[in-house]
Amino acid sequence: MSANFAKCGSVLITGASRGLGLQMVKHLVGISERPQKIIATARSPDTAQKLHQIAKSHPEVYVVPLDVVNDASIEAAVQEVSSIVGPAGLNCLINNAGILIHGDLNSETREGMMTTFQCNTVSPLFVTRAFLPLLRAAAVCAGGVMSVNRAAVINMSSLLGSVELNREKASSYRVYAYRVSKAGLNMVTRGLALDLHSDGILCVVVHPGWVQTDMGGKQAPMTPQESISSLLSVICALSEKDHGQFLNYEGKNLPW
Ligand code: NDP
Repeated sequence: MSANFAKCGSVLITGASRGLGLQMVKHLVGISERPQKIIATARSPDTAQKLHQIAKSHPEVYVVPLDVVNDASIEAAVQEVSSIVGPAGLNCLINNAGILIHGDLNSETREGMMTTFQCNTVSPLFVTRAFLPLLRAAAVCAGGVMSVNRAAVINMSSLLGSVELNREKASSYRVYAYRVSKAGLNMVTRGLALDLHSDGILCVVVHPGWVQTDMGGKQAPMTPQESISSLLSVICALSEKDHGQFLNYEGKNLPW
């Protein structure tokens, strides 16, 4: 199954300067069934050369500055995106930006915990809240059943945020801040799902696989291309039955 966003007016991706966010933009511009508008946001767009290269040859790509931990930046992005999407609103918000600061039981710091929580857990909530008027406009304008073609919030979580799966005593991967932040993001998503159901805004949290990016490292088993082509196929096919669920890049439900 390949990704089909032909009926989706607009997609916004946070953290599109590199890694999985950049790969989403690359993938979307490469398919014929792409969204009409692809809003690729980056906290430092001036240094996001690869993104600018794509935007140069693809007029449907809009590069917008957005630092997800900065409220003024969020507000400015909402204004800019509002003028890009117009009355049709924003159909799909992908909260992809994230950080991983290594820290085990001995080395974890308060600062590392709080910085990670701020970016990975708090920001997706506040970015979503800021874009709600545009998502609600899209839900009304597009109408129909719940899907990314209508209005959706997709939060990029991780298997490492699953409390249920964190049972392996031998695991050396005790990144407290990251795991906690993604477990929190899962709960944020469930809260959003409850609050936004009546608006017809689909809310889902996804795990992209362990992927070769700056964060995932070279030893990861999946390439960004493999992860994102599979994940976008899952995302474009989401429906009401997936609302509030935690899914992997193959569309399988994951334990919380
Ligand atoms: P990378 O570290 O490769 O890229 C992270 C992206 O997030 C960059 O574009 C970075 O921008 C951006 N970012 C970080 N902080 C901010 C901020 N304050 N405002 C805006 N953008 C910001 O990570 P991945 O691409 O691998 O990860 C993407 C998402 O997928 C993350 O949420 C991650 O937790 C999740 N994930 C990744 C896995 C993997 O194996 N790679 C596995 C499971 C989940 P900049 O270039 O400016 O630093």
